[in-house]
Amino acid sequence: MGEGGPTGAITSLEGLELVRVQLPVVGGWASEAGTFSLRDSLLVRAVLKGPEGEVEGWGECAALPGPTYSGEYTEGAALAAERFLVPAMLEERPSSAPEVERALCKVKGHKMAKAAFEAAVMDADLRARRLSVADYFAKVSDVGSGHASLVPAGVAVGLARSTGELLEEVGRFVAEGYQAVKVKISPFAGPAPAQLLGAVRGAWPSLSLSADANGTFAPFGAEEAAKALRGLDELGLSCLEQPLADDDFCGHAMLGRLLRTPVCLDEPLGSYGLVEAALELGACSVVNVKAGRLGGYLEAVRVHDLCARRGASLRCGGMVETGVGRAFNVALASLPGFGLPGDLTATGRFFRPDVAGGLVLGPGGLIGVPGGPGSGVEVDRAVVSAHALWRRWWPAR
Ligand code: MG
Repeated sequence: MGEGGPTGAITSLEGLELVRVQLPVVGGWASEAGTFSLRDSLLVRAVLKGPEGEVEGWGECAALPGPTYSGEYTEGAALAAERFLVPAMLEERPSSAPEVERALCKVKGHKMAKAAFEAAVMDADLRARRLSVADYFAKVSDVGSGHASLVPAGVAVGLARSTGELLEEVGRFVAEGYQAVKVKISPFAGPAPAQLLGAVRGAWPSLSLSADANGTFAPFGAEEAAKALRGLDELGLSCLEQPLADDDFCGHAMLGRLLRTPVCLDEPLGSYGLVEAALELGACSVVNVKAGRLGGYLEAVRVHDLCARRGASLRCGGMVETGVGRAFNVALASLPGFGLPGDLTATGRFFRPDVAGGLVLGPGGLIGVPGGPGSGVEVDRAVVSAHALWRRWWPAR
């Protein structure tokens, strides 16, 4: 990594707030990694004192309402945050992202919760220094110089009960301007994957298309899964995400040899070391980067750099985050290693209203990278208050 953090702390931590919000999801959300109509989400607000007074930053915990994507879930993350992460933060009083990493490293696991603290402090610190998150990521990264000002938007479509339902949903997003679509698939729900994806490909020949199985082909093993999924090879998918079990690196390596469609891993890649192991074993050629799963955005940038050095393709994943988390994700995806469209949607895809807006889908299916300072989006306090289940504040002294 080029620069581990700010040069000289110009901010100090004044206090932390946890806010648990519950926002209705437009159209609901259904995948094998979680089905819900209400996004139960934990937000972290960090207040720092900078040269020009107090400045606040927001971070979002990506954990889903239930332990359906990983072991983390919102209520558990909130408990871990209150019992262990807030006390560690108050003891160390970190005022930059690298300092948050160091302060929280003594707590094992709970990576999505930790990432929310890192993001909140990063946001506030960068606001005080009038630097955008995207500029900061580019500065911290070893790869290339600078970052893109526009990133390709991509929308993930939940499990469809029928081909007609899927075509209707994809059609709506294409009409909105999205040019990249990821379709959730499962051998246990709806039509066969090749039938579903084939129908989409037939309707939109030039759409950037991918599929995500969330591990649902695990019971079949690599060879049987390859038979069931071979039809996808004719459809020019950018990747097939997580077909087998989380821990089945060897199975994914075999599947990668049996299919032409590039295999992408998501759920098991919880650290730099695990990404390195997956690439070494040939378990994937595409890496889905999710900062929450990795424990923070600094680790995500390190993974970006690793993958860029090794020639692995990168896509930026999403966790049905509010505008707070999605603004950070758009900034991350502006780094030069991200060659594939990610799960990056404009304001309005999931929440109306959202707790933070400002992500606009422009011509060519591109989203503008917020220019800062900090995450570059403003949190709407009225929306937060209206949807807050509870909120708790801890002064840092
Ligand atoms: Mg996934």
